[in-house]
Amino acid sequence: MEVIERSDVMQQKAEELRLAGKVLGFVPTMGFFHEGHLELMRVARKHCDVVMISIFVNPMQFGPKEDLAAYPRDLEGDLEKARQVGVDIAFVPTVDQMYAEGFESRVSVEKVTKHLCGLSRPTHFDGVTTVVAKLFNITKPHLAVFGQKDYQQLTVISRMVRDLNMDLHILGVPTYREPDGLAMSSRNSYLNKEERKSALCIKKSMDLAREMAGKGEARSAVIRKALEDLIRSHPYTQIDYIHLCDPVTLEDVETLKGETLLALAVRVGKTRLIDNCVLGKG
Ligand code: AMP
Repeated sequence: MEVIERSDVMQQKAEELRLAGKVLGFVPTMGFFHEGHLELMRVARKHCDVVMISIFVNPMQFGPKEDLAAYPRDLEGDLEKARQVGVDIAFVPTVDQMYAEGFESRVSVEKVTKHLCGLSRPTHFDGVTTVVAKLFNITKPHLAVFGQKDYQQLTVISRMVRDLNMDLHILGVPTYREPDGLAMSSRNSYLNKEERKSALCIKKSMDLAREMAGKGEARSAVIRKALEDLIRSHPYTQIDYIHLCDPVTLEDVETLKGETLLALAVRVGKTRLIDNCVLGKG
C-alpha cells in the first residue's frame, strides 16, 4: 500500500491511474478504523481496480465547542488495517496540505443541510462538502463509498455531486453494528462501561419505532413520545433530536406514509451518537 501525504502527488498519481484505464474507488474517512470503515473499503475493493482511502480529521467540519482536539487517532493501526483489506493507496494529508495559507473557498448545499444535525451543528456540513469536494478533485475517483450511518451526510454529498455535475458515482453502504446493535463509531471509544450500556437505548428505540409502525401507528408525535420516554429511562442520556422525516428532503412528516426516515442524535454522557433507520421499507 502506498501512503501519500502531499495533495499534488496524490492528484498526479490519480491522473496516471486514470490514463492507464483503471477504475478508481475512494473511501474518505477521519480514521480510527472499525469494521464499518473496513466494510466500505471492501465494497470499494469489489467494484474497483484501485482502492484509495483518505484519513483526515477535518477541522472545518468541527464547531468551536466540539471534539476536534480529542478526536481519537491511530494512524499506524489504521494503515495496517487498510493494508489487510487490500487498500492500494492511503492519502493522509496534513491540515496545511488541505488548507494552505490564504484558503477562502467553500462548497455549500443549501436545504438538506438545514435539518437534523444541521440544527445543532450549523457549520458542520459546509465543512464536510468543502473537504469532500477537495478530496474528489485530488483523488479523481470513479466511485466514492459512504456509510448510511451518516444518512444526512450521504444525502448532502449526493446532492452536491448532482448539483455540481461531479463526474463520479456515490454508493451508500448499510450501517455496520456491534453484536448488540450499537452502530459502530469512532466516538464509541469515548463511552465508559455504564454509558456503553445506556447507549443501547438508541437501537432499542429504533426497534420500538419499527414495531409501532408495523402495528399501524402512523402518528409521528406518538412514536416520538414513546421513543423519548424509552431513551429518558436510560441513565446519562440527553436527546439532541428525534425526527421522523422524508428520506429525500429530510423535512419532518406528521404522518408516516410509505418510507419514513427515523433519525436520532443522543448524547450519552459527553458523547454525541447518531443513528437512523428507514421505516416502512419493503
Ligand atoms: P468517519 O471516519 O466517521 O468520518 O466515517 C468515514 C465513513 O465511514 C463515512 O462514510 C461514514 O458514514 C462511514 N461509517 C462510519 N461508521 C459506520 C458504520 N457503523 N457502518 C458503515 N459505515 C460507517
